[in-house]
Order: sequence, then C-alpha cells, then structure tokens
Amino acid sequence: MAELFENLPFENLYWNQMETVSQEELREIQVKRLRRTVERVKDLPLYQSFFKENPLTDDDFQVPEDAQKLPFTTLADLRSQKTQALWTVPRHEIARIQTQDGIQTAFTRRDLLTQADLTARFLYADGTRSNNLVQISHPFGRPALAFALQSGVDCIGAASIPAGELNSPDSLAVPDAALKLEEMFDFLTSLNVDGICADAEFVFALCSQAQALGLKLPLKYAHIPATESGIQLRYPIQKNYGLKVWEHWEHSAFFGAGLAGECHLQDGLHLQEDRFLFECLDPETLEAVPEGKPGELVVTDLFHEAQSLLRFRTGVVACLNSAPCPCGRTGRRIQIVKFLK
Ligand SMILES: [Zn+2]
Repeated sequence: MAELFENLPFENLYWNQMETVSQEELREIQVKRLRRTVERVKDLPLYQSFFKENPLTDDDFQVPEDAQKLPFTTLADLRSQKTQALWTVPRHEIARIQTQDGIQTAFTRRDLLTQADLTARFLYADGTRSNNLVQISHPFGRPALAFALQSGVDCIGAASIPAGELNSPDSLAVPDAALKLEEMFDFLTSLNVDGICADAEFVFALCSQAQALGLKLPLKYAHIPATESGIQLRYPIQKNYGLKVWEHWEHSAFFGAGLAGECHLQDGLHLQEDRFLFECLDPETLEAVPEGKPGELVVTDLFHEAQSLLRFRTGVVACLNSAPCPCGRTGRRIQIVKFLK
C-alpha cells in the first residue's frame, strides 16, 4: 500500500478537508444543515402531517441529537410515494433520476457533484490517484452505484474502464462468457489495470478463473460494496489472490454511494458525517445503543438538495467506534454486523 502514497504531500492524504474537521465544528455544521433539511421537507406529503402536529422551529434543533424529535422513514414509506412527491426542488432543477432496488432517487446538478465527491473520498482514501487505471465492473442494473463510482474515479482524474457486462459469477456462466473473459484478461494485463470496483463474488470468481488458467492478473486492489457476501469474501480474496480489498457502504436512497468507506488501514468504514446524520439504534426499542454495541443505522440527509429523508431506517446493523483513526479522518467508523431483512 505504501507505494500508492509515496511522494504525496501530507495534505494530499485527504480528498476533502471535511473528512478531518473537528468534532465541535462538525456538530455546528450538522445542526445548521439539519435545520435546512427540516425546512426543505416539512411540506412534503410524506412528512406534512407530522409537522402539522409538531410545529418544530429552528430553535428546536440546538444539537445534532435533537434529530430524535423527527419521525422515522422506512423503505415502505418511500415506496408508497410517487417519485415527484419526494422532490424538494422544482422539476427543472432535477438533473438525474436513478432507480435502484425499487427506489427512485433524484439529483440536482449539485447533488451529482456531491455524489462524485462522496465516492472520490473513499477511493482516494484507499490510494486511488490520477495515475491509476480502474475497471468498474458493476452492471447498469445497479445504476446508482455504477454511476457513482464512475463519477468518483472521474473526479480524482484516474482513468477508468466501464465494463459492466461481466459483473457476477452468473455472468461468467453464460455460453459466450469464456471468450469475453479471455478478452477481459487480455485487457487487464495489457493495460496493466491497477484496481477494480465490483461485487466481491465477481472479484473472487475472476481471480479464481485467472488462477485456474495460470494467469497472473495485474490488479493490486478491489473496492467492494459492504454486503453480506462482501464481508465474508474480502479476506479470502486478499489471502488467496493478493489484492487489497476495501469496503464501501451505500444505500440507493442516499446518492447511491458514499455513506461510508474504509481508509487504507482497513479498520472500519468512516462515516461521512458532514453529509449525513447517523444514529445507531436498538431495532426493537429505537433507543440509542451504547458505543460499541450493535444497533441499526438510521440516516438523515444533511446535504441532498433534490430529496431529503429524515431518520431513514437502513436495516443495516453495525457497531460504532468514535476512537480516533491513525489516518487522521475524524468521521466515526462502523463495523457492519448484519443486514436485517
Ligand atoms: Zn481511517
């Protein structure tokens, strides 16, 4: 890993200085942005009855923990709404609408830049630089993630190969896959591709097929989504095939990528706390759990212009860690424990 950071001045260890902001400054930013989010969403059909019964004002939000005064949002709530009913800007300000997992997410032009910035943060934290060549093997069936990774790599200035056709072990089993795989191996080797963004199952299958053919792939690292199989396969990929593997966590309701990502130290995923407010709650009582205990991650948007969600229950159970990370990023870290159905 060290060679990827070689010759970089210290300040270039971070993509965005917001990743190292102090806790005091972060809390001030969160309160300011929380007030703005409430202002944005209070007239939406999803939340208007709550705010009619609870006419909260800016004064009700003095610390980030005041988010507890707000209602929860579930996946069922989201799916019950027509796409436009969630928008907080007029139609002409919408720049992109992405669909994933039955959720439509709208973006303004600034939201697209935010998506690129959030993705660039974790790619950069793991050593991706402008002299790298990265293959993105996510299908356009998951457009939020594929687009987000593409824009993050573009943002850093690294070169990319969008290659979503082969993206899963199933895609390697279709009749003409062998030829396409051979082409991919040729491509990866002749261009000396540094990294790959793909599901862990695909990275594992790709490496094992290369090994079976006696090929040495040039890949040095892989960025994988922190899914159930991703968490299970990351260390076998590292151990068996010699790639560094980093996890990132996203949800299609929030920019499609960049809620959290690992730094090069691989000791938990840093939350992007200037863009989102995170709570870790007991899924039964919905009370905050003590640090280090597993709880469901609940997310409130702080920076999404086109649509913002309050206290969205992600179904992801994780342990929070606020101990300082030697990398210098101040965002708390999570270890994902399980995914609620
Ligand atoms: Zn770190």
